[in-house]
Amino acid sequence: DFIQALQMPGSKDKLKKEPELTEVEMKKLTIEETKRSLPIFPFRDDLIQAVQEHQVLIIEGETGSGKTTQIPQYLHEAGFTADGKKIGCTQPRRVAAMSVAARVAQEMGVKLGNEVGYAIRFEDCTSERTIIKYMTDGTLHREFLSEPDLQSYNVMIIDEAHERTLHTDILFGLVKDIARFRPDLKLLISSATLDAQKFSEFFDDAPIFRIPGRRFPVDIYYTKAPEADYVDACVISILQIHVTQPLGDILVFLTGQEEIETCQELLQDRLRRLGSKVKELIVLPVYANLPSDMQAKIFDPTPPGARKVVLATNIAETSLTIDNIIYVIDPGFAKQNHFNSRTGMESLMVVPISKASANQRAGRAGRVAAGKCFRLYTAWSYKHELEDNTVPEIQRINLGNAVLMLKALGINDLVHFDFLDPPPHETLVLALEQLYALGALNHHGELTKLGRRMAEFPVDPMMAKALLASEKYKCSEEIVTITAMLSVNSAIFYRPKDKIIHADTARKNFNHLGGDHLSLLNVYNQWRDTDYSTQWCYENFIQSMKRARDVREQLVGLMQRVEIEIVSNINETVNIRKAITAGYFYHVARLSKGGNYKTAKHNQTVTIHPNSALFEELPRWILYHELVFTTKEFMRQVIEIESKWLLEVAPHYYKPKELEDSTNKKMPKTIGRTTMTD
Ligand code: ADP
Ligand code: MG
Repeated sequence: DFIQALQMPGSKDKLKKEPELTEVEMKKLTIEETKRSLPIFPFRDDLIQAVQEHQVLIIEGETGSGKTTQIPQYLHEAGFTADGKKIGCTQPRRVAAMSVAARVAQEMGVKLGNEVGYAIRFEDCTSERTIIKYMTDGTLHREFLSEPDLQSYNVMIIDEAHERTLHTDILFGLVKDIARFRPDLKLLISSATLDAQKFSEFFDDAPIFRIPGRRFPVDIYYTKAPEADYVDACVISILQIHVTQPLGDILVFLTGQEEIETCQELLQDRLRRLGSKVKELIVLPVYANLPSDMQAKIFDPTPPGARKVVLATNIAETSLTIDNIIYVIDPGFAKQNHFNSRTGMESLMVVPISKASANQRAGRAGRVAAGKCFRLYTAWSYKHELEDNTVPEIQRINLGNAVLMLKALGINDLVHFDFLDPPPHETLVLALEQLYALGALNHHGELTKLGRRMAEFPVDPMMAKALLASEKYKCSEEIVTITAMLSVNSAIFYRPKDKIIHADTARKNFNHLGGDHLSLLNVYNQWRDTDYSTQWCYENFIQSMKRARDVREQLVGLMQRVEIEIVSNINETVNIRKAITAGYFYHVARLSKGGNYKTAKHNQTVTIHPNSALFEELPRWILYHELVFTTKEFMRQVIEIESKWLLEVAPHYYKPKELEDSTNKKMPKTIGRTTMTD
């Protein structure tokens, strides 16, 4: 494979050491020069005119052409905000919304949060003065609840439409409807790839405005054999490029924070050993949970003579454009949520990307000069194993949240909702059933009072239900904290490679035998008791707590809105666990043979994640927060529960017979516990 080819001195492969003649000239452009150099710039006036002439416009242009950062500015300059109403622009990803808003504020010379701002879940960085507002698609979806006609906007841009996230797909139907009775609202649907025709047809044959791309050729290299360990293969490839190839930055696509951290550590370790024998290589990670000042670093120009390597999740595929990338390394995987409507199980897993994704990734290498893309899979695999396109989220994830939101918007007939691609019927039915079991819908499928209160929270319906149930169990203080911690969970415990033992010991000190939710509660409360000390976080290998605290504050505000008092019941963990069970009673499993668990309703095999406080405890009944599929279906964040609680919190969902303990039945009669569930 090409990695070996690179390692062989004197190899005839194209990748043998090239003279450093093509070194990319790094000119420092001023902001104004950069703006003028973007592919969209020559079309500025045409674009403004097209928006003036048409109510709905589909915009297609390659990633990096300037759609996201420039179009709102052009329209602002053309007077679309003159009456004080806003231009809105949605992004599928939180990081993109923040980063792009920061860039546009900088380009316009204003303070972020004033004229230009952003809103993402649990964070609103806008003000009365904001006229250009970036937000996640989920945030706009939620804004419909308080402003169903989007009256405060003159222009709405549904950006990165090709990503086809669940929220974006639902927004298509919502904004199409609004455009009919708000002729003054301009609607732009902007997309990087070739879906424009489909979008145009959906929006009653809206005209398509194409921004011609500027793409340099990208040479594609494949491995000769599949890679057993693609993280390791990435590290080798990065180093090979670094020592044999002319300067120019490298972009590597990995699937998530953990993988990025592993890769970063391996790479830094090997660089240290190479010492001053090689040029400077600046390693920069970017993923959703990375603090924003760290994220911003990927945009800093690379110093002369050095090279930058960005280790990114899918976010760098189309949402963020990093200039000066010449080399792309693509292992061919991404993390995706998958929902099985037969078992009702939703699980996060690493899956092969589509051809469309692979091509987008390769394209990132050809923006400023001819580039190279190294695919860590075989040409055969690309041709025969990758799907053409990624399946839209609406067809593969749990719709509980979306259905609750639509119901809260008064949209009752979901079967006839105007979907670009309809969700599978079973998934829709299951979402309705689950919301019914949670008490959010009545048997006519109408929103209940409880459902209306649940819709106030920008969280999963199960979580919303747990928050509301905390009123009855008098532990709202604790549930609010747990919810906040779970919403940043993957990023709480920090595990540097050289201090893994210390980090794991520190983590164990927080363990609560009731389960991981309670361990997280311990972390938060101990941090609070140190008066939110940064030093304490550092000593305990804890991170992201500031965000947890922000989220918590937001949740407290929402609890006040639904008139739930914040009361504490820390010593009664049964109540805390019951409140959680009131929301998550679908996510219950019972112990079976060999330390495995079976889900209560569908008998699917699941296993406690090794990070859990309960990994060695193996309680009879447990509840899990989420499933992550790697080698097995792992339950992450579990608590111990009692099966009889299920009859208390979800009598309409569980029947006593289903909860009988098979292990009890086999016990000798003398123990006399056969009527446990009576
Ligand atoms: P598109 O939406 O068409 O993919 P963008 O408007 O996001 O394109 O990006 C256009 C250009 O803006 C990029 O090539 C890059 O030069 C610049 N840019 C975008 N975001 C940032 C940022 N946070 N920092 C510096 N430059 C940025
Ligand atoms: Mg964009």
